[in-house]
Amino acid sequence: MKKFDIAILGAGASGCMCAINCLYNRKSVVLIDKVSQAGKKLLATGNGRCNITHIGLSNKHAYNQNLDQYFNRFDDGQTICLFRDLGLELCDDGEKRVYPRTNSAKSVIDVFYNNFAKNKNLLLQLETEIINVEKQDDVFKVTTNKGEFMCQKLVVALGGNKGQEILDKFEIPYQKFIPSLCALKTEKTKLLENTRVSNVKVTATTKSGRSYKESGEILFKDSGISGICIFNLSAMFAREGKFEGSIAIDLMPDYDEKFLKILLHERKKIDVKLSKFFEGLFVNPLAYHLLNTLKLNEEKSSKNLTDAEIDKMAKLIKNLTFTVKGNYDNNQVYTGGVHLSCLDENLQSKQVPNLYFCGEICDVDGICGGYNLQWAWTSGHIVGLALNN
Ligand SMILES: Cc1cc2nc3c(=O)[nH]c(=O)nc-3n(C[C@H](O)[C@H](O)[C@H](O)COP(=O)(O)OP(=O)(O)OC[C@H]3O[C@@H](n4cnc5c(N)ncnc54)[C@H](O)[C@@H]3O)c2cc1C
Repeated sequence: MKKFDIAILGAGASGCMCAINCLYNRKSVVLIDKVSQAGKKLLATGNGRCNITHIGLSNKHAYNQNLDQYFNRFDDGQTICLFRDLGLELCDDGEKRVYPRTNSAKSVIDVFYNNFAKNKNLLLQLETEIINVEKQDDVFKVTTNKGEFMCQKLVVALGGNKGQEILDKFEIPYQKFIPSLCALKTEKTKLLENTRVSNVKVTATTKSGRSYKESGEILFKDSGISGICIFNLSAMFAREGKFEGSIAIDLMPDYDEKFLKILLHERKKIDVKLSKFFEGLFVNPLAYHLLNTLKLNEEKSSKNLTDAEIDKMAKLIKNLTFTVKGNYDNNQVYTGGVHLSCLDENLQSKQVPNLYFCGEICDVDGICGGYNLQWAWTSGHIVGLALNN
């Protein structure tokens, strides 16, 4: 049995940040993870580039709640400074998303590793599965497949939905974990599968009747829709606990309905069968889908389109609607987790002294763009500094 001042469970983004910040005061720290490399999960983030943070953090729907009291202590600017101090140069993509200058998530792991390697008070206990956690008197006992670890202070940084047994054991109140930032399931879209459509505006209406808008590119799946704007809208469904409602796609947001009708009237002159009418305006699978939905006689000549038919076309192009029936499993984060109201300002449990939480296990979730990692850095930093005392 090994004894430490501090044990950090999970060497993901928040666990690594916590470790870096709690090592100033010569405390003995063990950082435990089942993977072979600290921060390994980061390799998959930002398509391998790791979108570290978002400049400004000002989008009002970015997080499920107001986090000012935490960002006032460690925000995007301080994150950028800290990573630079660790040796990681960063740059933004012109849309406020910040990445390593190398464009490689591996660089983030490298600077963590270099920092850890210098510190003799830290034991990196990798390839070690956490099996159980108990508190005996004032000491925590962590049981793993590689033996037991005793510590005075324990940090749970196991990511979304992975620490539920610990939460249940210590009776820590938490919001149910629900997948978020994922593709949405709709009725069959087989004809559209793998079709990418750029520059669209998407309106999601959730079961409660609230509407949210996002713009960008979408990608159709066999029976659903993906793309960053859909991922962001999935968060709004997840936060309501139900993937039910609708998605309405404005395929030509740069035209209002009146101008779109003028354009469609102009296109009548092309004089083709209706089966060809949308070709050149939309990619072919989408053109066929629109035609199928409109149920017009494909053999008819575009010259003979009536005003009513043009109106119907314009309405559909501005409002192509799908019913949301669920979510795909490949979620990036979970909404839900430990209620922040059950934690003190340093993210320590109010009911179990010396038990801390950071990262996605807290009831904090953000949209795409670096918001989720920023919470991991902020919460890890706050807990790490508190542990120095
Ligand atoms: C594909 C993908 C891409 C993403 N891209 C971005 C992005 O570009 N920008 C952004 O802001 N966010 C992104 N995210 C979200 C971001 O990765 C998370 O919000 C963040 O990693 C959460 O940090 P964490 O420390 O809470 O948990 P994690 O980083 O998930 O770390 C938890 C750690 O706990 C370990 N663990 C779990 N259970 C056990 C156990 N029983 N025993 C031992 N170890 C255990 C895991 O191995 C893991 O290392 C992405 C997520 C995914 C899935």
